[in-house]
This record gives sequence, structure tokens and C-alpha cells, in this order.
Amino acid sequence: MTGQAPDTKVIDGKAFAAGLRARIADAVPAFKAATGRAPGLAVVLVGDDPASAVYVGSKGKATVAAGMESFEHRLPATATQDEVEALLRQLNADEAVDGILLQLPLPGHLDEQAAVATIDPEKDVDGLTPVSAGRLALGIAGMVPCTPYGCLLLLEDRIGDLSGKDAIVVGRSILVGKPMGQLLLGANCTVTMAHSRTKDLPALVRRADIVVAAVGRAEMVKGDWIKPGAIVIDVGINRLPPAEGAAKGRLVGDVDYAEVSGVADAITPVPGGVGPMTIACLLRNTLVAAHRRAGLADPEGF
Ligand code: NDP
Repeated sequence: MTGQAPDTKVIDGKAFAAGLRARIADAVPAFKAATGRAPGLAVVLVGDDPASAVYVGSKGKATVAAGMESFEHRLPATATQDEVEALLRQLNADEAVDGILLQLPLPGHLDEQAAVATIDPEKDVDGLTPVSAGRLALGIAGMVPCTPYGCLLLLEDRIGDLSGKDAIVVGRSILVGKPMGQLLLGANCTVTMAHSRTKDLPALVRRADIVVAAVGRAEMVKGDWIKPGAIVIDVGINRLPPAEGAAKGRLVGDVDYAEVSGVADAITPVPGGVGPMTIACLLRNTLVAAHRRAGLADPEGF
């Protein structure tokens, strides 16, 4: 099966994220009026990985565009664990900082988990500290990782109430798969968590009303794995080898978009699906963290 069947909706994450960012920007003046300052997001980059530098740059720009304060901190690739953790503690204590994001991956000699755990859970806008993960598992209000939260928003926008839906999450990473499973469970889905040791993955995927693919394998989920009418959220970002004469290969997801397009009710494209939601949800988390730290009620509608 090739091409886009007319009845498969393309879930436009770019447009949804733009709307979310505009609503966040609209909410900032009320926070400023109440507190005398803008919400602040600090991003820490260790080393000079070019992809990470691009992510940090675009996060900073989006923060400023939303009317928030952006603080960028760079440490050299040779920074020690103590230096990284000292900077994070300094940001924990900084009243102007509501959210702290430690850009991952860190250079290989550093202990990522220990560094992340240094972040004050109230400022953990990436939702990656053990406290945030525990709160999510317990169903207590806390900071939720941005990418899975963005996926949940797209699903709720498409389906409304997710109660009773059969959902499968392919991938169990700390960053995406595990929190995605928790969020879907919290929304009363019946959740299957699949991973590299799962047996007969196609059969399990075929049962699901909701499929979230977060694997990191180009176009792995095929059209005949999908139950007709299912909703497919493709988190994967994979670059194919360049075609002859091209400088760069095409970006594709973990789902075979052309095949699944004829079968699913709706699917997120790559790029333009889940990706833009991640930064929008980072801003959302910063706005929420700022309200909680200031003793204000959570902003409405986020
Ligand atoms: P990880 O590599 O951390 O995790 C991949 C998961 O996929 C693991 O749980 C692994 O299982 C599982 N897996 C690997 N191979 C298979 C297989 N053949 N069958 C079933 N499961 C398999 O990746 P991330 O979760 O960090 O990222 C996943 C993808 O999402 C990547 O393409 C990444 O680039 C993208 N991404 C996109 C973001 C966005 O903003 N759109 C944000 C974050 C990530 P096991 O645990 O058994 O090894």
C-alpha cells in the first residue's frame, strides 16, 4: 500500500505546538503582573556536540519568543562531575530560574543520572529526576517529560477521552517510553509496554487502538501491523543514508508512514508531528513550574 489514503488524518503537531506556544505567551503577562518577573528557563550544555548546541539554541529562542527569560550556561567537554553539579545547585538556588534543563547526552566521563538527580524537582522541567518519575508513577502532580506529554496532548486532541483504549508503547526508555506508558495508564488506557525482547510485536501492535512508537529504528512499524482505524504516534527521528548525489538523507520516523497512511485513522508525520511538541511542552512545564514556585494556582488550560 502506498500514498496517503484520503481518510487517514495527518496530525499536525507543528500547528498544535504553535497554538500551545501562543497560549503560553498569552499567559506570561498575568504571571509577570502577579510576581513582577517573567518565568525563567535555564539550559545547561556541557561540551560542544553540534546537535545539542542546535537544540539548546532553538530552546532559548522559543523561550524568549514566549516572553520568558532564557539563561544559557555552557561548560567545556572537560568539565568534572563536581563542576556540573555545582552549576545545577547554583541554578536550584537562583530565584529567577523556574526551570532547569540539562541537555543530554553528557560527555561519556560524566554520570548523567547523578547529575540529573541534583536538579531541584520543583524546577525539573524535563521531568527526568527520580522524584518526578516517582510522582508520575504515583499519580501525584509533578513535572512530566516533554515528549510523552506532547504525545498525550495530540492523542487527547484527536480522540478526547482515552478511557478503555488499548494502547501499546514500543520502546521503554526513561525519556519517552516509560513515562508515555504511565501517562496512558493515568488516562485509563490498557497499556502494553513493548521493547527489544518482546515476542511477536506485530501481533501485539495489531490489537492496539493507540500505537506510540519510540524505538529509534527507521520505518520499523509496518502497515499490516496496524489495526484499521488506530491512531499512530511516531516519536522516532531517524536519518536515512543520503540518496546518490544528496548531501543528507531524508528524516523518517519509526513507522512506515506510506504504508500506515492507508490503514490508520490518524498519524503524526516526521518531521512536523511529535518533534515540535517537545519544545512547546518544555515552555508549558516552565510556565507551570513558575506558577507553583510562586505559590499561584496552575495556569488554566495547560
Ligand atoms: P532509546 O534508544 O533510549 O530507546 C529505544 C527503545 O526501543 C528501547 O526501550 C529498546 O528496547 C526499544 N527497541 C529497540 N529495538 C527494538 C525492536 N526491534 N523492537 C522493539 N523495541 C525495540 O530511544 P529513545 O526513547 O530516547 O528515542 C526513541 C526515538 O525517539 C529515537 O528515534 C529518538 O531520536 C526519538 N526521539 C524523538 C524526540 C522528539 O522530540 N520527537 C524526543 C526523544 C526521542 P530495550 O529497552 O529492550 O533495549
